[in-house]
Amino acid sequence: MSYQAVFSSLEKQLEWQRELYRHFHRHPELGLQEHETSERIAAELGTLGYEIQRIGGTGVVGVLANGDGPVVLARADMDALPVTEDTGLEYSSTVAGVMHACGHDMHMATLLGAAKVLADHRDAWSGTHIALFQPAEETAAGARAMVADGLVDKLPRPDVALAQHVMPMEAGMIGTTAGPILSAGDSLKITVHGRGAHGSMPHNSVDPVVLAASIVLKLQTIVSRETRPGQFAVVTVGASNAGTTANIIPDRAELRLNIRTYDTELRKHVMASIERIVRGECAAAGSPKEPEFEYYDQFPLTSNDAEVNETVTRAFTEHFPDGQVHRADPATASEDFSTIPDAFGIPYTYWTVGCVPAEAYRKAVASGTVSSDIPANHSPFFAPAIDPTLETATRTQVIAALAYLGKKN
Ligand code: ZN
Ligand code: ZN
Repeated sequence: MSYQAVFSSLEKQLEWQRELYRHFHRHPELGLQEHETSERIAAELGTLGYEIQRIGGTGVVGVLANGDGPVVLARADMDALPVTEDTGLEYSSTVAGVMHACGHDMHMATLLGAAKVLADHRDAWSGTHIALFQPAEETAAGARAMVADGLVDKLPRPDVALAQHVMPMEAGMIGTTAGPILSAGDSLKITVHGRGAHGSMPHNSVDPVVLAASIVLKLQTIVSRETRPGQFAVVTVGASNAGTTANIIPDRAELRLNIRTYDTELRKHVMASIERIVRGECAAAGSPKEPEFEYYDQFPLTSNDAEVNETVTRAFTEHFPDGQVHRADPATASEDFSTIPDAFGIPYTYWTVGCVPAEAYRKAVASGTVSSDIPANHSPFFAPAIDPTLETATRTQVIAALAYLGKKN
């Protein structure tokens, strides 16, 4: 279909979107506390004619029913991060220690912009558009909270779900792929037990520091020795804590692990291996008590449906003919978006949009300094270029929706 008519009014609404973006950026709120943010979104969506529901605490969903046809759900996230902003931007965060450092402010401003385009051009499409704004993506709690609050029963059943994320790549570029695009992420707290003693009397102890050290080394073999070469898995020990001072052998140690995988079977295998190694090392050390395992911050796999990805990618390529659309490499980051389509049992696709000014990005690529010179998501220096990111990411949300809802003439 031709998008020319649909986007004829985009230029005029961009200033409203820029202002929305700067507003969200100035007033970030942490996960499950997005009260002001969700008020603003509900107000804007209401003005556009969407029917509003509050689901899962601060979650907001707008439904625009526009005749017969498919139902498309588009999702944005709303939460900020506990990061102190250091961008020096005129519209920097006004909240101490909190920052939109992952670009969720951009996701909100672009989904609202897409909602306006669709609301203003109802003659171009037929069906139902659902604009879903979820809380607490960063802690994997938000999508789950919406599902637990009856999301599936409160909305018309979508045929397809869509989501996007800004990434530190060249602004204007769009990355799509079939299959895994983000990893499953699991955090795990392990407590192992020893027997405390005076630091001068190690023979009276079961030293949990030595035990934990041995576990950390042995865990490295899960990826290097147990995982098929070329298959993706990450096992990171991000924290190792035991003891308080030099001359006391403590009675326990705590490890915190982060696990990333693209494959459900491998994920299960990695977890089983971790538990096996920890139990084995505890037995070898003569640990007096079974170790404890506590999984938390668990993110599902994001794996795009091949058919939905193809439909959306084809529509993107038609609309962005100048090579902006490329095949995205799967990222090792994680997301809880798929919790929503999985709850409905529907297919989905998730794509990435670049947000770094082209010149700066190309310069960094040429000098091989992308990882050091281009601030990525979660950095206190993360500063997406409003233009052209806002416009590109608004167009992608509209085009992906119209790939299903657009009138075929
Ligand atoms: Zn993030
Ligand atoms: Zn994010």
